Amino acid sequence: MDNADTTNRPILIAGPCAAESEEQVLETARALVSCRPILRAGLWKPRSQPDTFQGAGDKGLAWLRRVTEETGLPTATEITTPEQLRAALLAGVSYVWIGARTAANPIDVQTLATTLRTLLATGEATGLKGVMVKNAMHEDAPLWIGNIRRIQEAVSGCHIPVWAVHRGCNHLPCWGMAYDLREAVPEVPLLLDPSHLSGDAEQIAPLCRKAAELAYDGLMIEVHPSPRSALSDARQQITPEQMLEIWKALPKTQERASDLPLRWLRAMMDEVDDQLWQTIQRRMAISRRIGEWKRQEGVAVRQPARFEDILTQRIKKETKNGLTRETIVAICQALHEESIRQQ
Ligand code: PEP
Ligand code: MN
Repeated sequence: MDNADTTNRPILIAGPCAAESEEQVLETARALVSCRPILRAGLWKPRSQPDTFQGAGDKGLAWLRRVTEETGLPTATEITTPEQLRAALLAGVSYVWIGARTAANPIDVQTLATTLRTLLATGEATGLKGVMVKNAMHEDAPLWIGNIRRIQEAVSGCHIPVWAVHRGCNHLPCWGMAYDLREAVPEVPLLLDPSHLSGDAEQIAPLCRKAAELAYDGLMIEVHPSPRSALSDARQQITPEQMLEIWKALPKTQERASDLPLRWLRAMMDEVDDQLWQTIQRRMAISRRIGEWKRQEGVAVRQPARFEDILTQRIKKETKNGLTRETIVAICQALHEESIRQQ
């Protein structure tokens, strides 16, 4: 029994970004067997560069079959075309997912949904245990929700669960997008993919704790026997030993804390604050360049007319959006004084 069958325990999907060899996939599965994950491994990798590893392709299906035969673990892989979907199901892969690149195009998602419906009708998908839908690379909650609805429609009446996988957008979490999804389709289990969300192996453990705090229903994590030599996503993969340690430390049952909405709102606020401070740092970098120019041209650092202009424009614009004049003045003054110091 895989842990997805155990009620009230987070779902765990773990394994390499890409299946690289039979030995690599089996070694990972054997090392993870004590936490009963769904063993993930990408076979058809949508890579941005043509001269990089594109995945083992069809021949890796036999490796995944070996995983199940030897360890009893169910397997999961990403599918991007109807042919891949059919091949994966015929080979006995139990879970398939739609990745971020495919998720960007609703026509592709609909084509996969329609194929899935046909395969279910013809009895070619009897081994299918679940379908996962990742968010696209850009922040678009309605697109993600729409893709989930397309798959839900395809599997309706077949008792096949559909799960959402939150993988962030270009290494930004976009907690707000996941919150919108939760609100729109509360019946859909939500999993966090901290590997693609952060792109950083160091961030996996803290993000798993965050997922528990925000009552995610599960995790999808990239695990490789020797991450540094991985053929794709080397910086974000963790070792099986690290995975077991993280899994052991996580709460075993899902907590539905009464302050859950507040926790989500704070996660969103922290993300906005990160962006705000990054923006302030960018402003200061520009200030330093302005300072250099002023020095070269012999112009005074402090230019009261320019500051008055900035302030007037900002008050006009932001009071319309509901901020008080005092707050706008205080923020403008603080930014201006720091800019002067940087110059
Ligand atoms: C993956 O899971 O290996 C993958 C390619 O993910 P994403 O589609 O989220 O980039
Ligand atoms: Mn990957």
